[in-house]
Amino acid sequence: MEEKDIFCRIIDGEIQSNIVYEDQDVIAILDISQTTRGHTLVMPKKHYGDFLACPAELMGKVMNVAQKLGQAMMRELGADGVNILSNVGEAAGQSVPHFHVHVIPRYLDAQGGFRIEMQSQKVNMLELHDLADQIKESL
Ligand code: AMP
Repeated sequence: MEEKDIFCRIIDGEIQSNIVYEDQDVIAILDISQTTRGHTLVMPKKHYGDFLACPAELMGKVMNVAQKLGQAMMRELGADGVNILSNVGEAAGQSVPHFHVHVIPRYLDAQGGFRIEMQSQKVNMLELHDLADQIKESL
């Protein structure tokens, strides 16, 4: 049998965590690294490896909870903004192979936090047009 990932072990009550929300399908826990104060992870209880593998109906439930958490962070923690993101695959920085969404409150006056660096590339308009077609046709 495959070894359980750490979030499955938390969901099964084998490892302690700080649960901020739980229902039949979804659980939200404080991230142990607290990138910023209140950094929370929302995930389905049922195991799916990543965002791309999660069925649409369950995705809706996970994102509803992420939205509620974001609202609560703005209201209760005094956040000025929120990042909502999910890493898919090692290349994107995913370290736990159980689909989860990071809900990260952001504070204008905070030290630290994080920054996603997106570097612009020079683009050829014709290549961009072909690229859009390629993605469109595979949806
Ligand atoms: P990712 O790198 O996107 O897969 O995110 C995994 C996150 O899980 C990281 O931000 C870790 O800090 C967090 N994490 C790992 N182990 C635990 C744990 N036992 N309890 C809470 N968060 C955890």
